[in-house]
Amino acid sequence: MSSEKIVTRFPPSPTGYLHIGGARTALFNWLFARQKGGTFILRIEDTDKARSTDEATQAILDSLEWLGLDWDEGPYFQSQRAQLHDAYVERLLSAGKAYHCQCTPEELKKRREDARAKGLKPKYDGKCRELGLNPGANTVVRLKSPKTGKTVFNDLIKGTISIDNTELDDLVLRRSDGSPTYHLAVVADDIDMGVTYIIRGDDHVNNTPRQILIYQALEEALPFYAHVPMILGPDKARLSKRHGATSVLAYRDMGYLPHALLNALARLGWSYGDQEKFTIQELIEKFSLGNVGKSPGIFNTEKLLDLNAQYIRESENSDLTESVVPLLEGLGCSNLDTEKVAQAVETLKMRSRTLVEMAEGALFYFQDEFPYEEKGDRKFLKPNILGHLQDIRERLKSAEDFSIKGLEDVFRVFLEEQQVKLGKIAQPIRVALTGRTASPGLFEVMEILGKEKVLARLDKAVTHIKKKSDEQK
Ligand code: GLU
Repeated sequence: MSSEKIVTRFPPSPTGYLHIGGARTALFNWLFARQKGGTFILRIEDTDKARSTDEATQAILDSLEWLGLDWDEGPYFQSQRAQLHDAYVERLLSAGKAYHCQCTPEELKKRREDARAKGLKPKYDGKCRELGLNPGANTVVRLKSPKTGKTVFNDLIKGTISIDNTELDDLVLRRSDGSPTYHLAVVADDIDMGVTYIIRGDDHVNNTPRQILIYQALEEALPFYAHVPMILGPDKARLSKRHGATSVLAYRDMGYLPHALLNALARLGWSYGDQEKFTIQELIEKFSLGNVGKSPGIFNTEKLLDLNAQYIRESENSDLTESVVPLLEGLGCSNLDTEKVAQAVETLKMRSRTLVEMAEGALFYFQDEFPYEEKGDRKFLKPNILGHLQDIRERLKSAEDFSIKGLEDVFRVFLEEQQVKLGKIAQPIRVALTGRTASPGLFEVMEILGKEKVLARLDKAVTHIKKKSDEQK
């Protein structure tokens, strides 16, 4: 099979957002296909009409696009492929590998209960198997499964998995309303699309022998299977919302870089020595199913946040600016000067763990109306600082050079002449200019704000302090 083209697929059911586990499955399929020069197919398994929604489909597409997991074929919609599914059922019927069954749900229930009472397995008892029935209004089609022997497959991650065929039912392929069952649709689509590798979550391990029986009945070559282990939170409990957001788009909206999430996803179950950070190219080159462990992957949001901060530090300012502009607009800024945003980004990239933090941290550059942080106001905007603030304001007003260098000079002279320490005035000025007690370096901030805004904000702080002290009188 080695010379054959490699085809992988990601077939989510659009019943909710794309979660971390689904995204990891998509990533592994994508990496494998990209590494082997193969094809990656996206198939939306929307046959469960009651639970599938267009919003969920859109969320899946948006998530994959945001992560950069581009597909070569699709999206196919399983619900539009009923004819093809039916043709596979007919093929099995013609080959004598499937049969019509007229047992009603009530009869089946009763017989299952009887079997249980006798201590037998409550599986389909094969009543219609040899009756040669014709299709009727309420008949289903069942697979004529082998009654003896074993179904064995060599899982590329879990090793050999074997199940006695006596454990497997004559499973239903087509329901009485004519719709195909999940197992039939998946196998028919995978064969039709030429899928050669099925990489999916290990919650599907139990489905695999059933699906293999369908392949065998159709006399089709089996794909390779790789079932990836489940994902846990740091406390080793199954990953859930308790551990933090589990939806891919939530991470986008919280200001994560897709590349940080991709790295975290790649490391869920897969490792390459101790390496923690990979470029996309490295992931494509180094990924291997053989390096996917048997034990569950641990998703740690703290580590992801750390990783995100690292990637932000390493990002180009222009890329960060492009992401931060819409976030600032979302926070109410308009007519943004991209050049200024880029300067603001430069002052914030070492101190922002997410893009949202960065945008929030940059807000004071672009919005003149901001509240003073309560604690900073109380602690630093006090009458004892008024004289210094007014003095500095006058010096800044006549400063010709408003660059960091020029500002440093103004302050040096001021500190010398007034015999004060920078520590005494830095925080009051910071609160006056930014509203906060923590911000990028004061001189950087002033340079970016420019003289006019700096003076206006100092004036505003002076007025504010006076008003406060008047009120206390
Ligand atoms: N549609 C299935 C799911 O969302 C995946 C089926 C498969 O990978 O074979 O879990």
